[in-house]
Amino acid sequence: MKKISITVKVTLWYTLFMSIILFTSFIFVDLFSNNSLRMQTEKQIKEIVTSSSENIVFENGYLNIDKSIDKNNNGVLLSVYDIYGNLLKGSVPRTFNIDTPFSEGEIVRFDSPNGLSYFYYDDLVNVNGYGDLWVRGITSYSDTQQALNNVTTVFFVVMPLAILLILTGGYFVTKKALKPVEDIRKAAQSISVGEDLNMRLAMTKSNDEIYRLAETFDSMFERLQISFEREKQFTSDISHELRTPLAIILLQAEDLLKEPSLSIAQIEKIERIRIQATKVSRLIAQMLTLSRTEESKIALEHEEINLFELVDILEEENQNFAMEKRIALLNDIPKESMVWADRGMLIRILGNLISNAIAYGKEDGFVKVEYLEKEESSLIVVEDDGIGIKPEHINKIWHRFYRVDNSRKEMGDTSSGLGLSMVSWMVKQLGWEIEVESEFTKGSKFIIKIPK
Ligand code: ADP
Repeated sequence: MKKISITVKVTLWYTLFMSIILFTSFIFVDLFSNNSLRMQTEKQIKEIVTSSSENIVFENGYLNIDKSIDKNNNGVLLSVYDIYGNLLKGSVPRTFNIDTPFSEGEIVRFDSPNGLSYFYYDDLVNVNGYGDLWVRGITSYSDTQQALNNVTTVFFVVMPLAILLILTGGYFVTKKALKPVEDIRKAAQSISVGEDLNMRLAMTKSNDEIYRLAETFDSMFERLQISFEREKQFTSDISHELRTPLAIILLQAEDLLKEPSLSIAQIEKIERIRIQATKVSRLIAQMLTLSRTEESKIALEHEEINLFELVDILEEENQNFAMEKRIALLNDIPKESMVWADRGMLIRILGNLISNAIAYGKEDGFVKVEYLEKEESSLIVVEDDGIGIKPEHINKIWHRFYRVDNSRKEMGDTSSGLGLSMVSWMVKQLGWEIEVESEFTKGSKFIIKIPK
């Protein structure tokens, strides 16, 4: 029961309860109608037998039995016997045993061997001048039973239909009742997927539990947004504050390096300071870009861009870096391919992917950029045959400051773990999607999907 939805659970529960209620009420109705029908039959048979005995008289030395005795009285067959059990007048059903012993004043049931059942009632009548006579009334129990059987048949046809109706009706009613919960789930999901903390559920005010739940969510998002903004502001402030002293350190280090009197050991030490300062300065630049991009301070300027030419320039820029590892940079983009995008963003996206592909590429390997036209979207693919990414890291590489352990080694000390989180943010800003396919030690493919 754990995996099914509340709607299905609720529907199943009350369908079960309704079925039990329906079934028990049927049992009660059946018992009640059975009893009342039987009582009615008994009353009728007694009345008919008793009243017909008034039609038997002894006149002028003859026993006179009225013809009405031969008639079928409301389904009751009458017969008259002398006290020795000889049939004088009337008739009995064919399957009723004519020798059935008499029993005064009580209703008796008789089951014939061929399955038919009867009720009979015997009345010992004293006819003036003649003496005692038996009057017997017989009615078919099977007819009574048949009527009840019909009720049962109807019930078992109607019952599944009723259950089906309860099931489908119940499902839709419950689903409708729980729709606000589903709305909240969808809204909360789109807030978390889109990371848009400005969004609120903003349900119309009411006094119910759902509204209170939505309100709690909204105030939680409010607090989250405030704390995220504070954190962003802090990153942005601290980056600004660090920029000037760092620029001074760099400048001083470069100035110092120009001194002619330095020993080799001193030059090495200053050079190390310069490299580290450069690294921190790049990190700060990235952090600033990220906090600015997330505050949407960057206005997009879309234009038609020749992708082949742009990738050519980017590969040219990375040529020296690639040559260190003898990595071939391939541009497999058709020359006339055009994309509609913000040039600055596209350069940063592809620049990041290409330099990552080189950094995490194998010596003597390749890095290839392709452009593929598919039915629903166009794809820009940056592929390498490098170290690849283990499945346990693949979803985390988009997180800020996330680096796979060995990337420090590959990138020297310049890796920051910010590149892909920026790429992912920018791709989203362009209304595109990005995903990665990778096999550890075999290589990776970063695929940008541009919807048509
Ligand atoms: P970094 O500055 O460390 O490259 P990124 O955000 O660009 O930061 O990348 C995050 C992590 O993703 C990297 O540390 C690296 O482990 C992994 N990664 C990125 N691109 C590739 C690639 N082409 N091949 C293998 N691993 C990659």
